[in-house]
Amino acid sequence: MLPASRQFEAALGIVKKLRSEGYEAYLAGGCVRDLLLGREPLDYDVATSATPDVVLEMFPRTFAVGAHFGVVLVAHCDAAETLQRGSSEGSEGEKPTEVATFRSDLAYSDGRHPDGVRYTQSAEEDVQRRDFTINGLLLDPLRGGISLSERRGGEKLLRSAVLDYVGGVADLDAGVVRAIGDAHKRFEEDHLRMLRAVRFAARFGFELEAETRRAIRALAGRIHAVSRERIRDELTKMLTEGHARRAFELLDETGLLAEVLPEIVRMKGVEQPPQFHPEGDVWVHTLMLLDQLPAGCAATLAWGALLHDVGKPPTFKRAPDRIRFDGHVEVGVAMGAEICRRYRFSNEETRQVLALIENHMRFADAPRMKESTLKRFFRLECFDEHLTLHRMDCLAAHGNLDIHDFVRERRAAMPEETVRPRPLLTGRELIAAGYPPGPAFKEMLTLVEDAQLEGAIATAEEALALVQQRFEK
Ligand code: ATP
Ligand code: MG
Repeated sequence: MLPASRQFEAALGIVKKLRSEGYEAYLAGGCVRDLLLGREPLDYDVATSATPDVVLEMFPRTFAVGAHFGVVLVAHCDAAETLQRGSSEGSEGEKPTEVATFRSDLAYSDGRHPDGVRYTQSAEEDVQRRDFTINGLLLDPLRGGISLSERRGGEKLLRSAVLDYVGGVADLDAGVVRAIGDAHKRFEEDHLRMLRAVRFAARFGFELEAETRRAIRALAGRIHAVSRERIRDELTKMLTEGHARRAFELLDETGLLAEVLPEIVRMKGVEQPPQFHPEGDVWVHTLMLLDQLPAGCAATLAWGALLHDVGKPPTFKRAPDRIRFDGHVEVGVAMGAEICRRYRFSNEETRQVLALIENHMRFADAPRMKESTLKRFFRLECFDEHLTLHRMDCLAAHGNLDIHDFVRERRAAMPEETVRPRPLLTGRELIAAGYPPGPAFKEMLTLVEDAQLEGAIATAEEALALVQQRFEK
């Protein structure tokens, strides 16, 4: 029932130690929720009545991350005597446990952070400051004086060890994300919670409780008070947790999407030529791509999928023969650049997201590409992401994978040294051959590289001969 992981054992050890010194301590928040859902938690958080200075004193290897918010990181090897048992592995690289002092938040004046916190001896008060009922559960792993992990027992035992001050268990059973207390007030305090609500609902396939949903709708416009980086990180999580479609439908229904990515809302109702896109409009097509994003996929691939057709709404045209989106790739790249700037993506990520938009239509030409063009196409950074995006794009439309299969097979059959062979000639050798340095060098070297990629030449002598045929000295 309970995981026997070192992470869990470490958190348990911390709880034991705190208890033995007379403090209250529980597992808290997301890990309790995950355990009840039968999912292995990514990390374990401990909530305690001990203040940070006590925690810092009690455990030798600690780090005061958010001491002003009452959070101390406790590294594992000192936390639990059980930890090293039967293992030669050290604790390096293992996530420390977050130990947070029971607290209640003071007023919020920036729409994101409390102006300060007040420590409390009351676990219940600590739960009240948390965001959602499903995130407001505490677990007493030593209930009845026996460590849960040492007891054989099913879900019933686990449930009997839960402290639920907010109806979180019922909401978990019903599949509901519900703000703790007055939803409107809770989102007014911290606007980021609006995005968190959507993210948890999408991740678990839950519904937003009616009041919670209404409050988000009413306050969606305030999301701009949250930093762009935080908004981006929430969106990226939604895109890469395996439930991106549901997340974006919920963002749309709550009005958040119109605030954070109005360019995506504009895709709605933008018709496409039915012979290429039997699935429907650009919005439906994009949702069908999101539907295919697996949990753990690269953020750049996910954003590329979201934005690949972002240039379609502004370029929509009903031409005499059919609907056209002339220039949608170029417009899309420009819009993508603006969005990446808005959300403070790194240069590297921006480059890849824009490359995905820029190249997504080139696959159609692949079967007719010259050998050299195809090889240069394969040189795109993270070509796998381009190929995956193309596959999703096809499956979200006509479903024909002929081109995808062709490209994949060609790529697989082509060794890296034929895609990026060593150059046969360099500028230095051109100079040695008597050519004065200048802009023509680029043309010469491209000519040589083309012939090399086509397999027409293979030696430096052949390369020089080719240059001499075409270029006077
Ligand atoms: P995840 O699996 O995504 O980590 P989590 O529930 O563990 O989900 P965290 O962001 O790690 O989420 O936060 C841990 C706990 O802290 C939450 O379960 C919740 O109780 C509380 N919490 C986090 N952020 C907020 C917030 N903005 N407002 C109120 N409570 C919060
Ligand atoms: Mg967490």
